Amino acid sequence: MKYIYMFIFIPFASYSQYTAGNTYFDANNYIEYLSGNLPIIISVPHGGYLDPNSIPDRNCSGCVYVKDSYTQELGRNIADAIYQKTSCYPNMIINLLHRKKLDANRSIETAADSNLIAEQAWYNFHSFIDSSKQSIINKYGAGLFIDLHGHAHAIQRIELGYLISKSELQLSDSILNDNYYQDSSSINNLELININSLGFSDLLRGSNSFGTYVENKGYSAIPSYSTNAPLSNEDYFSGGYNTWRHGSVNSGTIDAIQIEVNADIRFNSLIRKNFADSITLVILDYINYHYFNTFSQLYCSYSTGTINNIYEINLRKELLLITDVLGKETPYRRNTPLFYFYDDGSVEKKIIIE
Ligand SMILES: [Zn+2]
Repeated sequence: MKYIYMFIFIPFASYSQYTAGNTYFDANNYIEYLSGNLPIIISVPHGGYLDPNSIPDRNCSGCVYVKDSYTQELGRNIADAIYQKTSCYPNMIINLLHRKKLDANRSIETAADSNLIAEQAWYNFHSFIDSSKQSIINKYGAGLFIDLHGHAHAIQRIELGYLISKSELQLSDSILNDNYYQDSSSINNLELININSLGFSDLLRGSNSFGTYVENKGYSAIPSYSTNAPLSNEDYFSGGYNTWRHGSVNSGTIDAIQIEVNADIRFNSLIRKNFADSITLVILDYINYHYFNTFSQLYCSYSTGTINNIYEINLRKELLLITDVLGKETPYRRNTPLFYFYDDGSVEKKIIIE
């Protein structure tokens, strides 16, 4: 089979409406977006304070309403520390609404409890993340999404979520290296493209895993080289809706890690700020080691080059729709120019000759 690419373009020129370093809000000022120029996205879904009467309190079976205290402040500390270190900006999306009004780490039904104002805020939250993802894919080809939380578990350690459950983490490295586990994780793309060709268990808890980098800065973390898995009677968060939705489990080149920070770090402003400085170095080292090995000299000057390179890196994008040249949905046909729409927002016009 032979492919002829007539042209490749990225639609949605509106993604360029955001300028790195500027802060934007949605129409109701419920969602805050710091636009970035690094391949880093930090979202803070549970750190909001706003309590408007126009949105009734959520009232759903089994729902959680307590906020993750000081995660908004921690997110801002991390964004500041990243700028201090790199003179570049991460993307950061903060849900300013209290969790009893909107849970921005749930599907829309549970998140907004059918309130139209809360639903709009939910859409805006994910839309800012999607815009960040698209601009990172355009510039870098791949990147890292961090969903930042705070847990109230007894053991004071950083819990890292990759959509791999407690019982799965208890499996041996050789079993975890079966494709099944990699394919069901939020760093599925990283396992394929990581520049040192590390296996999945090494990415989870080897000497160059995120958790081990955190431990090397003096904080307990799980999974990591020293602590491979939680014990059966220990609490552990393996990642939620945002980790699933915005990571690479289904497709795409943005990987996701849920970071759950223990209370001992969050509630003291000096400890929190020191942690922000440390986690910044972890994030930058992690990207430099696994994604782009000249990243630490270039940061936001780094570029993967031409758009064709991006296409080659972005192997895992999934086809959503094929149309003919008039825009009508059509089945696949040989020897005919057709438009192929992919889930990363790209469109290709090509003829496949067989
Ligand atoms: Zn949370």
